[in-house]
Amino acid sequence: MLSDIEIAQATKLIPIDQLAHEAGLTDAEFEPYGRDKAKVELDASRPDTAKLILVTATSGMPAGSGKTTTSIALAQGLKQLGKKAVLALREPSLGPVFGMKGGAAGGGYSQVLPMEAINLHFTGDFHAITSANNLLAALIDNARHQGQVELKEIFWRRVMDVNDRMLRNIVTGLGGSANGIPTEAGFDITAASELMAVLCLATDLDDLRARIDRIVIGTRRDGSAVTVQELGVGGALVALLKDAIKPNLVQSIEGNLAFVHGGPFANIAHGCNSVAATRAAMKLGDYAITEAGFGSDLGAEKFYNIKCRAAGLNPAAVVLVTSTKALKWHGGVPLPEIGKPNAEALKKGLCNLDAHVENLKRFGPNIVVSINHFHTDLDEELDIIRNRCAELGVRVALSDGFALGGKGAVDVARAVIEAAEDVHPLNFTYEADAPVMEKVEKIAKTIYGAAAVELAPAAAKDLKRLQDLGFDRLPVCIAKTPFSFSHDPKLLGAPKGFTLPVQRLILNAGAGFVVVTTGAIMRMPGLPKVPAAMSIDVKDGKITGLA
Ligand code: ADP
Ligand code: MG
Repeated sequence: MLSDIEIAQATKLIPIDQLAHEAGLTDAEFEPYGRDKAKVELDASRPDTAKLILVTATSGMPAGSGKTTTSIALAQGLKQLGKKAVLALREPSLGPVFGMKGGAAGGGYSQVLPMEAINLHFTGDFHAITSANNLLAALIDNARHQGQVELKEIFWRRVMDVNDRMLRNIVTGLGGSANGIPTEAGFDITAASELMAVLCLATDLDDLRARIDRIVIGTRRDGSAVTVQELGVGGALVALLKDAIKPNLVQSIEGNLAFVHGGPFANIAHGCNSVAATRAAMKLGDYAITEAGFGSDLGAEKFYNIKCRAAGLNPAAVVLVTSTKALKWHGGVPLPEIGKPNAEALKKGLCNLDAHVENLKRFGPNIVVSINHFHTDLDEELDIIRNRCAELGVRVALSDGFALGGKGAVDVARAVIEAAEDVHPLNFTYEADAPVMEKVEKIAKTIYGAAAVELAPAAAKDLKRLQDLGFDRLPVCIAKTPFSFSHDPKLLGAPKGFTLPVQRLILNAGAGFVVVTTGAIMRMPGLPKVPAAMSIDVKDGKITGLA
């Protein structure tokens, strides 16, 4: 089989204006960015026509589960059945593209295109967010340097869309008073920034401005909050983001419309593409398919409790992606061996599937388990998963979208159509106005399987400050390893009875949540021993080695 990038480069793309016109967009509703990308602003009077389908997965493993591939396969499968299926996906970050995981535009014959552009600079949204974030950092330091604002503590961090562990903790302003006030500072990855979350949750430019103005950048000596509004620079940040807020339209290999917009990670951020992209997909299709990152304990939990609650969305069905490989990994098989037959380990790993199904049942929408088919899979192993789904009372189908495109995903598509027929109202995990720690406990105990939650001393201080500032009842965005239900990536399967250690509670007043970091999670990832960057090159003007 050809590599992802070879398949992508061999596909003839539909010109973006033709794609948009055929989908009924007027000239005023889209602005081409080159031949095969466009920024879209749909007429607000367009009604929602689509049922919303969420794609999530069993617990992560370092190789990725196949959620994006399955999302695209499902859209293509629905198209094969004569349905209009529109995708809403996240934009890849350069961190994973050059780091451990590689690209995030799908795989095999289920990709969104042009994959090189989508994986690299695309329409510049990530750069715009990075610039706006760092402009604010510079403006804060300048206002302090000029004596215009009193800031005892600065919360705002710089960001960059590259994995760089050296920048996690730095000191700025060295070299004497002409060069600023020496300050402990640091970088997060752009995908984890508050502005990324703000852009993804904003409903329009006015909401974007209001959210940016609400951002708390630090505190004064008396403990009171200093906001962006007080600095008077919200307008400048919106100026940098006014195009980035518009969803990007591209296409799948089989010509589905695909909105690829916003890219918060699901382990260290809220993990969902923009509300604007989801809404656009819902206005143009019969089915809108959206992916939330990592396992359902991370992406789906935040999709429901943060995004759906904020935007008033109610998905009609949820697809739970799993595979023999993922379940074997959770049954204790080391990564290099997960492609080899091992029915015993697979059976051991089924407890991970059970726990995800149990959690998703609580939220309400009907579930379809989609088995991401690998060519190494044995029939008897697939039957083990199918039988467990029958016992759990959930629909199950095999997706061969990677090898066959939409034709390989018609069974999943049929199961999704059926599952989405009766829409169940959402049950959230916690009350909207419950105290922050009550929310964390609810998630930890009902979704993760924890027995208790423990606050580190720094987190206890953070909590006190949230209470003093009056932000202790916001929703929570938990930062946690994706490789386990717990905070410890080594606890595979479905661990129970652990204590979840909370390290920090970080206020994101503009995004409208508190980021809760647990275990050893970092909001600026590092690069692995052999980064994907080692295999990427340009030959005869074409990019090679992107996967
Ligand atoms: P996720 O969205 O869950 O992180 P992706 O869909 O991005 O996962 O897939 C992760 C990687 O695995 C990609 O490089 C993709 O090409 C590859 N992949 C996904 N499904 C298959 C499959 N069925 N067979 C082979 N490779 C696959
Ligand atoms: Mg993905």
